[in-house]
Amino acid sequence: MGVISVIGLEKSYGDIFALRGVDLDVGAGEIFGVIGPDGAGKSTLLRILATLLLPDAGSARIRGLDVVSDYELIRRDVGYMPGRFSLYSDLSVEENLRFFATLFSTTVEENYHLVSDIYRQLEPFSKRRAAALSGGMKQKLALCCALIHAPSLLILDEPTTGVDPVSRREFWDMLGRLRERGITILVSTPYMDEAGRCDRVALMREGRFIGIDTPAGLVSGFGRRLWTVRGSDMFALLSDLRANPAIDTCFAFGDVHHVTLRDEEYTKRMLEEYLRHKGHAGVSVDDTPPTVEDYYLDRGRAEA
Ligand code: ADP
Repeated sequence: MGVISVIGLEKSYGDIFALRGVDLDVGAGEIFGVIGPDGAGKSTLLRILATLLLPDAGSARIRGLDVVSDYELIRRDVGYMPGRFSLYSDLSVEENLRFFATLFSTTVEENYHLVSDIYRQLEPFSKRRAAALSGGMKQKLALCCALIHAPSLLILDEPTTGVDPVSRREFWDMLGRLRERGITILVSTPYMDEAGRCDRVALMREGRFIGIDTPAGLVSGFGRRLWTVRGSDMFALLSDLRANPAIDTCFAFGDVHHVTLRDEEYTKRMLEEYLRHKGHAGVSVDDTPPTVEDYYLDRGRAEA
């Protein structure tokens, strides 16, 4: 039996459909990522699983317990970190941790070993008000607060949003160590590049999953040629690429454009020739392996 089992989950807010029939199975000890842009429905799904929101239809179970009828039992075993600031701003670092321990009828002393790895970094600031912490520190404290009652499942809603890149990396390292202790982790993120830190991911778009697999499994299903194109005028390059009938999709990807083809006979040399003709000098076209983001853009377009 999986730790999380979701079938046909639906939720709307008035006439906004946030979940349009979601199925999900998460196994014990997995880091499972729910990845999608703002508004995709990630928070709604995670809040239902954390028993904080009622679904309209479908079922969701945590270790066989129903999120609606068995919510009290589930809460004892689940640590939830909401997307927005969950700490008490006026309480100190230490007081926040004590408060969350008390909420679950335990003490910091009893379960300190569960958070010591992370909390040690906060200890120099233990008397500081939570409001005065940096983003990365707040996120570490919120994780400690979600862990202090010894849950076996962590549900983390966008824990790395708005956090600096170094703290993001550190945070994922911490999740890796928690997984080694047997904790199952369901984590949402809008950052496609974080897919690689998960065992499996579900890509979410407009209340639906458009792909569930390992990150490697997703990109191996991409199944099309993908090129990067670079030049000196990237803006003009994008519109000229999009105007080429042999090109299917063209997206700006950092400092390059990613291109897929409609015409499989079309060669790199033909594209370089076309771009030269359009007045672009020093253009380079190269093969590139697809990323999860390429998969997301391609699938999203196919389903639009
Ligand atoms: P995500 O976490 O991926 O950003 P959400 O689950 O927060 O997605 O939102 C999904 C959709 O539901 C969005 O269109 C959002 O505007 C809408 N929504 C979320 N919460 C509410 C609410 N309390 N009332 C009305 N609409 C909501």
